[in-house]
Amino acid sequence: MLYAVVAAFGLVFGSFLNVCIVRLPRKESILTPRSHCPLCNHPIRWFDNIPLVSYLLLRGRCRDCHGRISPRYAIVEALTALLLMATFHRFGLSPELIKYCVLVMMLIVLVFTDLRERRIPHAVTVFGISLGVVFSFFITVDNRPVGWVADRMGLFLPGTALSVLGAITGALLGGGLFYAVGEAFYILGGRQKEYLGFGDVMLMLMVGSFLGVPLTMLTILLGSLAGSVVALSMTLAAPRFRDYHWPYGTFLGIAAIYAALDGPRLLEAYLRWSGLGG
Ligand SMILES: [Zn+2]
Repeated sequence: MLYAVVAAFGLVFGSFLNVCIVRLPRKESILTPRSHCPLCNHPIRWFDNIPLVSYLLLRGRCRDCHGRISPRYAIVEALTALLLMATFHRFGLSPELIKYCVLVMMLIVLVFTDLRERRIPHAVTVFGISLGVVFSFFITVDNRPVGWVADRMGLFLPGTALSVLGAITGALLGGGLFYAVGEAFYILGGRQKEYLGFGDVMLMLMVGSFLGVPLTMLTILLGSLAGSVVALSMTLAAPRFRDYHWPYGTFLGIAAIYAALDGPRLLEAYLRWSGLGG
């Protein structure tokens, strides 16, 4: 029953995320004007604006001009519903549920803006970085690296300070490491082409402020790995992909969603296996 409620919320939020995906990269308002057909500009009637249902009933076409509406609208709505259900499954009814639903939804927007237009709007990332730090006052961020350093220095830090520092170090490491990786690729590539844009750095600052150091490193590892494997195999399969501009933010965003929902399990398993976790 609760899952159905979460799914319904997901569809409605997904519909709003679609508006963000189209309008934020163009710096347009996400509140006005009302939704209209991207082809004929006719305003969409309220009964044609029901998430997923309207798309299926109208078979992906505009009621007025019968032009084909991108299936992305339906995909984003269904995906948001599924991911919010997964978030609910992971965290239950808890303060964490709100934090991670917000993160997952911001990441969905960035995954699709990068995929569509190679844009990662600062409107989302700057807002997200601040929000991650604010959340860290109420919901503990993984702060083991900070705690370890504080211990060695004989410092006693209260829980809240540790958590906030966990968010800040996560952001600095995420953004910093990613900036370094981008520079390394740039130099290795003979300074010919920028592989990673500043948007990717901002994305990782945001992920870091929500997830803390360990899960941010997992995100970078999985995102770079997935991006490299896909880019390499596609380039080998078809040479025309050699100069293709890959949306690395999309890979990082997907990796961050995975890290937020299932990363701790993978991380603990790795720490046990390597003997680092004690
Ligand atoms: Zn139309």
